[in-house]
Amino acid sequence: MQGLMMNYPLTLDRILEHANRIYPHKRISTKQIDGSMHRYTYADLYSRVKRLANVLRKLGVNPGDRVGTFAWNNYQHLELYYAIPGAGAVCHTLNIRLFPDQLTYVVNHAEDKVVFIDGTLLPLFERVADKIETVEHYVLFNVPPGVESKLPNTVMYEDLMADVDDDFEWAVTDENTAMGLCYTSGTTGNPKGVLYSHRSMYLHTIGECHPNALDLSSRDIVLPVVPQFHAMAWGLPYACALSGAELVMPGPHLKPAPLAQLIDEEKVTVPAGVPSIWNALYHELKANPRDISHVRALVVGGSAMPRSLIEAYEEQLGVNVLHAWGMTEMSPVGTVCQLQDHHQQLPNHQKWDVKAKQGYVVAGVEMRITNDAGEELPWDGATMGEVQVRGPWIARQYFRVDPTPDSFTADGWFRTGDVATLSEDGYMQITDRTKDLVKSGGEWISSVALENALMAHPGVMEAAVIAIPDDQWQERPLAVVVPAPDAGELTADELNAHLAPNFAKFWLPDEYVFVEEIPKTSVGKFDKKVLRYRHAQGELG
Ligand code: AMP
Repeated sequence: MQGLMMNYPLTLDRILEHANRIYPHKRISTKQIDGSMHRYTYADLYSRVKRLANVLRKLGVNPGDRVGTFAWNNYQHLELYYAIPGAGAVCHTLNIRLFPDQLTYVVNHAEDKVVFIDGTLLPLFERVADKIETVEHYVLFNVPPGVESKLPNTVMYEDLMADVDDDFEWAVTDENTAMGLCYTSGTTGNPKGVLYSHRSMYLHTIGECHPNALDLSSRDIVLPVVPQFHAMAWGLPYACALSGAELVMPGPHLKPAPLAQLIDEEKVTVPAGVPSIWNALYHELKANPRDISHVRALVVGGSAMPRSLIEAYEEQLGVNVLHAWGMTEMSPVGTVCQLQDHHQQLPNHQKWDVKAKQGYVVAGVEMRITNDAGEELPWDGATMGEVQVRGPWIARQYFRVDPTPDSFTADGWFRTGDVATLSEDGYMQITDRTKDLVKSGGEWISSVALENALMAHPGVMEAAVIAIPDDQWQERPLAVVVPAPDAGELTADELNAHLAPNFAKFWLPDEYVFVEEIPKTSVGKFDKKVLRYRHAQGELG
């Protein structure tokens, strides 16, 4: 027997309708190129999104077409996040930090019809323009005075907007229609596209706002430092509209000092970004203190937040750190580390131990860990296995690639490629990516655990551990360390003595290399592929 409830499609325009109806006065503030603030409300956003949907129609964008965006976090990019899906097309966020070949590949693979470009980024796109095959129009905004575009068929965003009205009927009635496309940063081979649907993103939005996840509400002011070109800015542009939270968009101002200023002056309650940004911000706040007492949760994900940095924020700055884990393939949020009742009595240092874990699944996501044979492993906090997930906002296939067993299991789970333990009460702790684990003498060594412990040493600013080939043990760990500015002389012996109390002897790195900087990927993670390459070239160690 079927239920007798309405079959009401979960489309993203409903989220914007809700924001316009209930929170029309709530603000969206963008820090512009010149440092001034652009401010408007959800009511303004609503009306401009409808105009922009009309612009898309005029440009010949039809339902199902892919439309690229190449921009910082700002109000125009937000308008695109709603207008493209609202017009039935697919919002393809292009990572501005991709190498030219990868950028060319993703635009051509997606067959983008129109690309919207932030004028400050024009030179980055112009490098690849002559290799782009399908783009019919380039639409520019924020073009700095005096800058001339070398792209063909360019039109100006505001000129187009001035030419249309804000009367538009949302185009999508089937909730399974595609709405967004995001290519993974791809550590091997070509980047792979994840194609979100209205339904998947709608449900992800509700899941993300849940009190046991980010607990967003109309009392919040959210600063997505995580770029809109990375994993849909963790879904925050939708979650804020659903919950009535105000948005502060940093534009290109991502250095620690302007971020600290923005958090202070805009009274941000939830800044969200990757650990390397928060590491830099911590040092900035120590050097130039500011009032950030309004921050109720510093959301961090994308890589493991070292426990030492969590402790530093919590103890020295009084900031509550909220660790989350996810993947582009998961829309992206999978787990959030909210403490539960049974943690409340713990002394602080044990609470931070818990907060350094990636947390438990957002309701809607199912998780298991398995061994190499695909057998499920126990939730005992010690056994490590590959993390597999399934749920309504998890990819079941990559765009234009047949599903393969290395990404999707026969019984319908997505293989994340992360290795973790799960505690009895459901807290996941990532120990590594499968390909970053160090396999020494048949045993696994977690590079992440070593990195976190090294970064807890006061003389260490950043540390990345990679596996290097070893005749006797197959692989051994090599630590690449950036000393803190005032560290003085650091030695391998000293660092191994620091690690020794907490690790088996065979875990300790045989070699240390001291460098000025660790290379980062386009989304700010340690780029171990580059480190491995440099080591193979004899440039490290
Ligand atoms: P991306 O799809 O680029 O966001 O990358 C997803 C990958 O980032 C995951 O599979 C993890 O390896 C890593 N990751 C994301 N969040 C965390 C976290 N909180 N701790 C450790 N690794 C993380």
